[in-house]
Amino acid sequence: MSKNVSSLPIFVRLAGRPVLVVGAGPVATRRIERLLDSGAAVTVIAPSVGEAVRAWADSNRLRLIERAFEAADVDGIALVFACTDEPAINSAVATAAHEAGSLVQRADDAGASDFLVPAVVRRGVLQIAISSDGQAPTLARILRSRLDAWLPRAYGDLAGLAADFRDVVKQKLPRHHRARFWSRVLDGPIAEKVFTGRLAQAREELDQLLGEDSPAVPTRGEAYLVGAGPGDPDLLTSRALRLMQRADVVLFDSLIPAAIVELANPKAERIHVGKRASRHTLPQEDINALMVRLAGEGKRVLRLKGGDPFVFGRGGEEIAQLADAGIPFQVVPGITAASGCAAYAGIPLTHRDHAQSVTFVTGHLKEGELELPWPQLARIGQTVVFFMAVKSLPVICEALREHGLAEDWPAALVIEGTTVRQRLVVGTLADLPARVARETIEGPALLIVGEVVRLNETLGWFRPDR
Ligand code: SAH
Repeated sequence: MSKNVSSLPIFVRLAGRPVLVVGAGPVATRRIERLLDSGAAVTVIAPSVGEAVRAWADSNRLRLIERAFEAADVDGIALVFACTDEPAINSAVATAAHEAGSLVQRADDAGASDFLVPAVVRRGVLQIAISSDGQAPTLARILRSRLDAWLPRAYGDLAGLAADFRDVVKQKLPRHHRARFWSRVLDGPIAEKVFTGRLAQAREELDQLLGEDSPAVPTRGEAYLVGAGPGDPDLLTSRALRLMQRADVVLFDSLIPAAIVELANPKAERIHVGKRASRHTLPQEDINALMVRLAGEGKRVLRLKGGDPFVFGRGGEEIAQLADAGIPFQVVPGITAASGCAAYAGIPLTHRDHAQSVTFVTGHLKEGELELPWPQLARIGQTVVFFMAVKSLPVICEALREHGLAEDWPAALVIEGTTVRQRLVVGTLADLPARVARETIEGPALLIVGEVVRLNETLGWFRPDR
């Protein structure tokens, strides 16, 4: 059902212009604050006022008239805000304003207002205004909070950077090159520097670029090594999501659920680089080289890794090559399967009474062998998390017992943790291998060993019923 709108979104410059606010309650105070920000010359009329308004008046930031509204108050004023909680007074203000040819907004009645005050998300000089044409103000506010939570704070800095360099760019670049220049700067490696807190470096780079005789548009080739979390798409970080939506190419392996890959920019090329227990689709060296090549072509290459890229993810190797090739890159942490599975299985990894430390180890067999520091792992008072441990599970349980842990020491396997297919097999070092042997395991699984496993009985909460 589409409805026509009755308003035009515009941003009005108010610096130095007289505006009138009638009322001084909470709604009026919010309006006044925004009006003062815009530099308007604010007059407030109200018989009694709260502390905030009083303080502004005392510091001469606005003119305060402490009495009831009179029709003549609107004379010579372009914008009038009727913000009392008395509809009759607001209505009188509106009538007077209309007779004087002013535009009026009524806080209690959008339909009777000449203009609407939108919900606003602000980042420095950037303002995103949301309006429902007065029809669904709560929806506009909900949207406002969503956007506010999602929009990186650094957009304010980015806008500030653009403002500071605007004049120089105008002098340096012919008109027809400017837009292209800016879109490369504001949507490329320089912007990413700002987003990752390197504002001074971003400035320096821009300075350098503009110091050249004919500033070449910077190439935007760069790489992002991004942790996709353990499986539940909701566990992506907002930076991961933002970069996924900016990428030109996404490289992902079998651990990444389709539901996550789908969140990438629909125009991005998607390359499945495989890797599922020994069935390699692309050898690691080729993946590294591919990333370097694609970024070198000026593309924004995003490498999605399951969990956290720096936890058994060979993330270090992938970026070492990028660093060698001088390609800008960033690493975005993800929720490792260890924390994701622990949280969704109700197994705290540490606990004051049961585990004072937690160790992450790989259970990946090398030529059928598992070389691990067993005496350290087979101690009480700690939790040990084994990644890639389905095949080696019997070996692990036996080795831990041989090195001193009791046969009834708790152990659990979390299969496809955090997804709607999550399964939890709880047992002991003695019986877990047999219990697991009865399961068909197709997805990834994580072994957690330690007393904390027992807490699952009371703390387990995620039991998908699909
Ligand atoms: N970088 C990843 C680990 C990669 S190694 C991270 O931080 O999580 C791959 C191993 O991670 C799998 O063999 C399995 O042990 C574990 N894993 C990853 N996702 C998992 C999931 N959803 N459920 C259980 N284990 C998972």
